Amino acid sequence: MARVYNFSAGPAVLPEEVLKEAAEEMLDYRGTGMSVMEMSHRSKAYETILNEAEADIRELMNIPDNYKVLFLQGGASSQFAMIPMNLMKNKVADYIVTGQWAKKAFQEAKIYGTANKIASSEDKTFTYIPDCSDLPISENADYVYICENNTIYGTKFKTLPNTKGKPLVADVSSCFLSEPVDVTKYGLLYGGVQKNVGPAGVVIVIIREDLITEDTLPGTPTMFKYKIHADNGSLYNTPPAYGIYICGKVFKWLKKLGGLEAMKEINEKKAAVLYNFLDESKLFKGTVVKEDRSLMNVPFVTGNEELDAKFVKEAKAAGFENLKGHRTVGGMRASIYNAMPIEGVKKLVEFMKEFEKKNLK
Ligand code: PLP
Repeated sequence: MARVYNFSAGPAVLPEEVLKEAAEEMLDYRGTGMSVMEMSHRSKAYETILNEAEADIRELMNIPDNYKVLFLQGGASSQFAMIPMNLMKNKVADYIVTGQWAKKAFQEAKIYGTANKIASSEDKTFTYIPDCSDLPISENADYVYICENNTIYGTKFKTLPNTKGKPLVADVSSCFLSEPVDVTKYGLLYGGVQKNVGPAGVVIVIIREDLITEDTLPGTPTMFKYKIHADNGSLYNTPPAYGIYICGKVFKWLKKLGGLEAMKEINEKKAAVLYNFLDESKLFKGTVVKEDRSLMNVPFVTGNEELDAKFVKEAKAAGFENLKGHRTVGGMRASIYNAMPIEGVKKLVEFMKEFEKKNLK
């Protein structure tokens, strides 16, 4: 059976090696006689899986000891509420709105306190990252929020905002583990794993210990308290056990590859193949300001909606799946996450060249 080149923005392509290994272990995980899916989350075997997953992500991201790693559920969107519920001590937070996901988080935060939009790129359909070197940070802001990589619009913060001493909170869902990060620059970073790391539903939260307190907003459900999960090592209730197991395998795959420096090099090479072509093409055009381009999500257009639709259809028939742009943007988007092989991008560019030859008037 042939696998397609899957350019989906998420859930997205995972390393073939990981999927094969999981398939081999499906009926009998390492002599236990059962699948990880069927296993008690309090068993020795599962304890090892969870502990290794945490140790491996700590090693990959060089996470300092004063940060907790929490494996939670509810997807990235659950964090839109969980963050204000736990962090809004003064009931004030500043949001930088650079796309739909930041906007959703911003709107959610308004339910819990005063959320200020201190910068935005909505004036130009989120095609750039605003200058964040000197923002009007609120004096009593509990945190400053960004969505670091904008899955839908294909922009990425290359420099983190100057938060003037306030904790930085970042949604890294679509750039998770794609390159090295300095965790100490964040108060909290989190990502839904369904792009670079594993199956949808799992969300990994990396949070500085001093931000984990009993003092949550009144009415915060127990399941929405960071402290309960931190105190219980992500085992307060049944965790998304199988999903975490796959994440663990992806961490090991990344370590074998050489870690996040190596991953970054591969991702840069891969993205350059596509961006270089877009820059010289007479038919296709990238939609993002060059200096803010994401390594993970590459939106592009022909400028003609009918031609865009024709391209998506013909690409699908040729084995390139999920190239249609987000429903709110149109055009095309190639998501080229960690597990997309460079051959996939090279073949896509070959296909685009052929399409251009046939369709350029
Ligand atoms: N944040 C970003 C940057 C995303 O790309 C997505 C989903 O694609 C989400 C949040 C929402 O994730 P979930 O569907 O896991 O709630």
